[in-house]
Amino acid sequence: MNLPQLPEQGLSCKRLATLMESFRAEDADWRAGRTFSMVFNPGEEAWQVARDAYTRFMAENALNPSAFPSLRRMEQECVGMTASLLHGAAGTAGSMTSGGTESIMLAVKTARDWAAKTRGVSRPEMIAPVTAHPAFDKAAHYFGVKMQHTPHDSDYRADVQAMRELVSDHTVLVVGSAPQYAQGVIDPIEQIAALAAEHGILCHVDACIGGFLLPFVEELGAELPRWDFRVPGVTSISCDLHKFGYTPKGASVLVYRDRRLRRHQFHVYTDWPGGIYASPTMAGTRPGGAIAAAWAMLNYQGRAGYLQMARETLTATQRIVDGIAATEGIKVLGEPDMSIVALAGEGVNSYAIGDEMQARGWHIDRQQFPASLHLTISRGHYGIEDAFLADLGEAVEICRKQVLRRAVETATVKLSSGAAYVLPDKLFGAMSRAAARLGSEAVPKRSAAMYGMMAELPARGELEELVLDALDRLNTLPGDSESTE
Ligand SMILES: *Cc1c(COP(=O)(O)O)cnc(C)c1O
Repeated sequence: MNLPQLPEQGLSCKRLATLMESFRAEDADWRAGRTFSMVFNPGEEAWQVARDAYTRFMAENALNPSAFPSLRRMEQECVGMTASLLHGAAGTAGSMTSGGTESIMLAVKTARDWAAKTRGVSRPEMIAPVTAHPAFDKAAHYFGVKMQHTPHDSDYRADVQAMRELVSDHTVLVVGSAPQYAQGVIDPIEQIAALAAEHGILCHVDACIGGFLLPFVEELGAELPRWDFRVPGVTSISCDLHKFGYTPKGASVLVYRDRRLRRHQFHVYTDWPGGIYASPTMAGTRPGGAIAAAWAMLNYQGRAGYLQMARETLTATQRIVDGIAATEGIKVLGEPDMSIVALAGEGVNSYAIGDEMQARGWHIDRQQFPASLHLTISRGHYGIEDAFLADLGEAVEICRKQVLRRAVETATVKLSSGAAYVLPDKLFGAMSRAAARLGSEAVPKRSAAMYGMMAELPARGELEELVLDALDRLNTLPGDSESTE
């Protein structure tokens, strides 16, 4: 295997630009509003503001807040602006982190350490609905907290009674989302937080995706259940700026109702020969660019900018939801509270619809339990609704015809083993190659064609091994014979 080498002589700026643009050829085309996750697009003018701020501070390091008062100031202003959107009051405190996952992991770590210190809990547990983001499982795994999952109700919102039944002396945290990612509905936060308060435990609200949109949705007149610091018992909230705050990646905020809680988030080591080391979040070195760009975007947009983007987002959402309702063979799951919509086939295979849409240039994530397609609609989708719905109508029609055809075939199709379909394309390709090595000959290109193979696939535990294998292959060095390329 030939490892990539540093070029003997450095490349020119121009050459680098040409190369990087060529690498992009197969990237998802988010500028045209054809992707429904990953990128939140505030428009080119706003990107220019963020770009300027990012490069201005790209060398600075927010590890030591006393070295760069500029970054400390911008970070705390971002935390403050976010906390006031969330109706934080006196005593509120928070930190900026690299993203929702870090914010959530820190909230879990804080809850663990707070409970150990104030209640003597040595075998910590947390309770979260199955719809909570996987970052909570990650935190549980990293920090040795036992995860207890509870089901959702028929409307996809957390089943609070089931949560209540699991509360014990070991519980350090209960979790709700505003909204949860899969179907875009807000959990019954008032009840979850009341449960926490009753037992003297902490309650984290995951508003990673909703935190910067819901306040404006409410201001535009929507009736929403309460979920922020106005709800007694909510002790911390995570809110990503790099989602509906439309800032460059690497910016999220974690806010605590009470500053005293945040102390349990910090890490201090006093015995290091290199000096006394204190760090507020999980990272050591923290990029100044992400903080400066977030600060610039928040101030560039202002309330008026975010309100306008929220208006456009809701308009696009309403058009798409109405279009889905008017199309036979598909429906929206539950009643989404903002702009996150799960779309499912009725008598039509959801993943097959996803494949047909992909063939028409739309990138839509697959979901499971139940099988569905996921749309995160943001301001970048305003204006593309008609094109989207026209293609969607066509895609559903084609899939309906296939269903009719299949009905007369003798082969029965197993739709239950949906896990493989929810994988992103590349991962899926790597996985089907891995499966091929296990003995299946045909390696189908499109996910809906996988029915036959999936029916023979091993148990779910072995599926995890396949996914791990695929992930490993996707992260190999170029030139490695194990590479998927
Ligand atoms: C995106 C998201 C997260 C995780 O945030 P990252 O920035 O991807 O780490 C957590 N919860 C919800 C509801 C999200 O949508």
